[in-house]
Amino acid sequence: MKKAGQYFRCIFFFVFSYTVMLPACANQAGVEKAERLWKEYRPLKIRDFGSTQTLSILPLIDYHTMDENLVGEPGVSYLIQTDHHTILFDVGFNQKGTEPSPLECNMKRLGVALQDIDTIVISHNHPDHVGGFENMEKKTFSLGKTQADFTGKRVFTPTPMTYPGLEPACITEATVLGPGIATIGTIPRQLFLLGWTDEQALVVNVANKGVVIIVGCGHQTVPKFLKRVDDIFTEPVYGIIGGLHYPVPDGRIRKFGLDVQPMVSTESPFRGITMEDVQDNIEQIKAVKPAIVALSPHDSSDEALESFRQAFGPAYRELRVGDRIIIGL
Ligand SMILES: [Zn+2]
Ligand SMILES: [Zn+2]
Repeated sequence: MKKAGQYFRCIFFFVFSYTVMLPACANQAGVEKAERLWKEYRPLKIRDFGSTQTLSILPLIDYHTMDENLVGEPGVSYLIQTDHHTILFDVGFNQKGTEPSPLECNMKRLGVALQDIDTIVISHNHPDHVGGFENMEKKTFSLGKTQADFTGKRVFTPTPMTYPGLEPACITEATVLGPGIATIGTIPRQLFLLGWTDEQALVVNVANKGVVIIVGCGHQTVPKFLKRVDDIFTEPVYGIIGGLHYPVPDGRIRKFGLDVQPMVSTESPFRGITMEDVQDNIEQIKAVKPAIVALSPHDSSDEALESFRQAFGPAYRELRVGDRIIIGL
């Protein structure tokens, strides 16, 4: 009997070590590494990178839609147009694996053709930004079930990714992508469950106004991407648009009855995001005095959206599929 007890204690020890202790240690090592890399990195200044008179951001995929003819889902795809370029920023989730995908449906309904797009930028390799889990695992991306022909298009990714018929350019440093358009480079984060995540955001310089920051999921965190933008650019921040990840009190995605987004959004399952964090981030955003703020509902709750509406008043813009945000002339 005593031997059986020892035997079960041994089994429990090994199971506990391999399923809890080792992943927890690896996660903690990743958290420390991400923090160290962030502190060591010194980005170069980008000066005089041009500007656009007009910036148009048309959400093609997000959680809320302008009307019932458009399909909403907890993912991101924005059509960004400047005087010189038309960029597709992320390619949605296609969570249900439908054909056509929500992105393909919405593009058709909004009159957006693939030939209109000259550049594709992927913010980070998470399923709600690359067109599903399968694409994430294969380190690729797709607008729908079939990978469309992107011949002649420029593609920029934050981590090495592949795509049939072309070689996506993996860029980790702050880089100018066109007149008045730049990526802020990747900012690393160790996330519980989803692991190591390098995410980039775009910046567009609107003439006589300042830079508009366009964010995918916002895993970088508000203080870090604001600091990075301040370190790189000389222009003031004019706008902040996109996902900032506030799935409190509840997220948008349920799997096996579990509320997934709060679990994947922090370094530790024991330290979730709170409404106090949302208020703290709001104060940090207020400090840079943006003229336009639009929070993506794909990874933030309606309660968080309401906090932003209250905090920014007339500067706040709804971010909904089909509802174009135009800045400039
Ligand atoms: Zn996301
Ligand atoms: Zn993400």
